[in-house]
Amino acid sequence: MTATILIVGDAPVPPGTVGRVGRFESWNEAVSWFDSVLASALVGWRCTVIGPESAVRAARARALAAGAVDDEITMLVTDSGSRRVYCPSCGGLSTTRASAVRCSGCSIELVVGEHFSPVLAAHLGSPC
Ligand SMILES: [Zn+2]
Repeated sequence: MTATILIVGDAPVPPGTVGRVGRFESWNEAVSWFDSVLASALVGWRCTVIGPESAVRAARARALAAGAVDDEITMLVTDSGSRRVYCPSCGGLSTTRASAVRCSGCSIELVVGEHFSPVLAAHLGSPC
């Protein structure tokens, strides 16, 4: 069985960790590394994702889209204050700790909605 540990942020590597470890400052920096791990994942693969809720949920959604199943993914949230927000105007994803955010794609102001899409790993934003 192969194991992968993805850490986003400054959380420590869990004691006794055996396997492939990737540590990144942000989810955007981790995406290409995580995609390469997913491309080589085989049956029995296990993954632990550690970091802010927005990054952990994004990694989980990406793994599920690549064919992983829930039992293969362990999520350890270090900070639940940040949320990813989907822009219905341009499809962009932004991250915020506030109740509103300027879209990183088209720059419109979005109010962060309660609706959460597990597929997108993001809350729905509504234009102001
Ligand atoms: Zn947008």
